Amino acid sequence: MRIVLVGPPGAGKGTQAHVLAKTLSIPHISTGDLFRANISQSTPLGLEAKGYMDKGQLVPDEVTIGMAKDRLLQSDTAGGFLLDGFPRNLAQAKALDEFLSEQRIGLDGALDLEVPEDEVVKRIAGRRICRNNGAHVYHVVYNPPAAEGVCDECGGELYQRSDDTEESVRTRLEVYHTETEPIIDYYVQQGLVTTIPALGTVDEVTQRAVDALK
Ligand code: ADP
Ligand code: ADP
Ligand code: ADP
Repeated sequence: MRIVLVGPPGAGKGTQAHVLAKTLSIPHISTGDLFRANISQSTPLGLEAKGYMDKGQLVPDEVTIGMAKDRLLQSDTAGGFLLDGFPRNLAQAKALDEFLSEQRIGLDGALDLEVPEDEVVKRIAGRRICRNNGAHVYHVVYNPPAAEGVCDECGGELYQRSDDTEESVRTRLEVYHTETEPIIDYYVQQGLVTTIPALGTVDEVTQRAVDALK
């Protein structure tokens, strides 16, 4: 299956994508994780992206679209993928459609994770992620690791993202409303959207997503 996950920062996209990708045996492709991997390796792409990310702004499309396509080409695109955090504006959504249609394939669905804004703020404030693998996501209250600061899945060190500050979150929510939300309508017009209420436990939300994809 070829699926896109949409939803505000902190909605639980990464958390759900990690579980769903395993369940469906498809790669989880997170542009945020790809940028952070480039930053930790100090690549030119990472250095360029970092300034935008720390301010909570979108990294320019020229950089982002190229990186997403490169990553998609590394996997069996026709066999399926779960995109987390891409596309994030209409230009990216159109570029993805073009890329897929060149390969004579299309998307099977777009899951829109819906969460109230006060919940998003709480989720982001307590988020911790693993240095080894950004898809290993925790929360100090809602989903704490067994041992403080240590990833249950791989033993990696957990850290707080430098952009998970209150100021950056406010900007990211604004950017979400103005730039990302329009892609929901774009996908609604293609009959691809299922809205998933994303309050409740991680397992409850996963079950809703799995049901939506049946
Ligand atoms: P969150 O999970 O909190 O929404 P992400 O890890 O998806 O955060 O993204 C972190 C930052 O990386 C974004 O604020 C943005 O600067 C950048 N980024 C990630 N994906 C994209 C994208 N598709 N287009 C532009 N910038 C992106
Ligand atoms: P894993 O550690 O999950 O087995 P790999 O090291 O095999 O992943 O990764 C294969 C490719 O997929 C690499 O290019 C890696 O950068 C990329 N990759 C791994 N996890 C993600 C992710 N969550 N989002 C985007 N790309 C990823
Ligand atoms: P996104 O990728 O949309 O930014 P994440 O998956 O990183 O969101 O989740 C943001 C934070 O919320 C993380 O700390 C995660 O552990 C937590 N979280 C995810 N899903 C839930 C849930 N259903 N209930 C409570 N906390 C959650």
